Amino acid sequence: MQPLHARYPFLAAAREAVETAAVDLGEVVATDEAVTERAVERVEHAITDGSVGDPHRRTRVELLSYPVARVLVSLVDTHVCTRKYAQAEAESAQERFSQEFAATTEFKSTSTERVSLDQLLAEFDLASAVTDAAEGYWVEVGTYLDLAADQRGDHWRLVNRPLADGRVRIGSEELHVLLKQAIRHRVAEGLPFQVPDPIADELDDEVERLNEVLAELDLTREIDTVVPELFPPCMQALLDKVQKGEHLAHHSRFAIAAFLTSIGMTTDEIVDLFNVNPGFGEEATRYQVDHIRGDTSPTEYSTPACSTMQSYGDCVNMDDLCERISHPMAYYEQKIDDAEDEELEDWRDENDDGEDEAAEA
Ligand code: SF4
Repeated sequence: MQPLHARYPFLAAAREAVETAAVDLGEVVATDEAVTERAVERVEHAITDGSVGDPHRRTRVELLSYPVARVLVSLVDTHVCTRKYAQAEAESAQERFSQEFAATTEFKSTSTERVSLDQLLAEFDLASAVTDAAEGYWVEVGTYLDLAADQRGDHWRLVNRPLADGRVRIGSEELHVLLKQAIRHRVAEGLPFQVPDPIADELDDEVERLNEVLAELDLTREIDTVVPELFPPCMQALLDKVQKGEHLAHHSRFAIAAFLTSIGMTTDEIVDLFNVNPGFGEEATRYQVDHIRGDTSPTEYSTPACSTMQSYGDCVNMDDLCERISHPMAYYEQKIDDAEDEELEDWRDENDDGEDEAAEA
């Protein structure tokens, strides 16, 4: 097991090293506290500060903590934890490889201890898709669209890019961002997975600890933010219909009401929103929303998953992000998470101005 594998545990060579060493994860979690502790740290940091924490000084502990962290994320089994974890592993990797690329260039040397750009491109099958340009690199359009899909900012839009022979020109820093994205996809691949019971039992306490960290986390910034521009396409379409006064079938009314409840809107706000629609009696709407919220029923109903939305014909206008999520809430969480704080502030200010104007009128 090499230090390089410990620093980049998502590499195929790192996985092979673990396989070759015939490591039994069940035995590791049962006997090696240092590995489990470092694995918990990886996930805890990912949730709280978007990093994976400081590496352990022992290569073996650091490397094995990665597969154990994936087991923990699978056991926690929530969108937000999986997403934050993959993001944090990718961020930390980008920090490391950017430094190592710089050192390799500076000292004109390659070292088995450092990862090189060519190595990472080959790892993610990008060697032929990325070629040198006079300034920066050319990237095949398909690869660019795949890896730049989640990037915010106009300069990432294809129309704002130099394009020639089916290739897009990007700068070195931008190539690092695309590589980070490839790493994020690799880390997220297959998560969450089914964990055998004996391993899950060993990790009961650790999973409980991570669930507590998640519960304490101020997710209100993510969830209690109503930004219709970031709603999933299905919910935007339903909201549009509501606002145009069109008739909505029961399942559609339920879906949009459950979604708006989940993102923190009060019953009064939802009733106000629905009241523009002549098809909604206020009492019936209030009753339905309270029912969904669990105020007038023993159950709190949640927003239907994409598969349910699809079966009712409520899934419309799917976009790239839809391909990677399975729940409208996951779509919205991801959009809010990707939005910069200032952008969210702007949206809030716009909403506040709108409310002030309405109050003055
Ligand atoms: S895939 Fe899911 S989030 Fe996207 S439009 Fe369909 S139901 Fe909505």
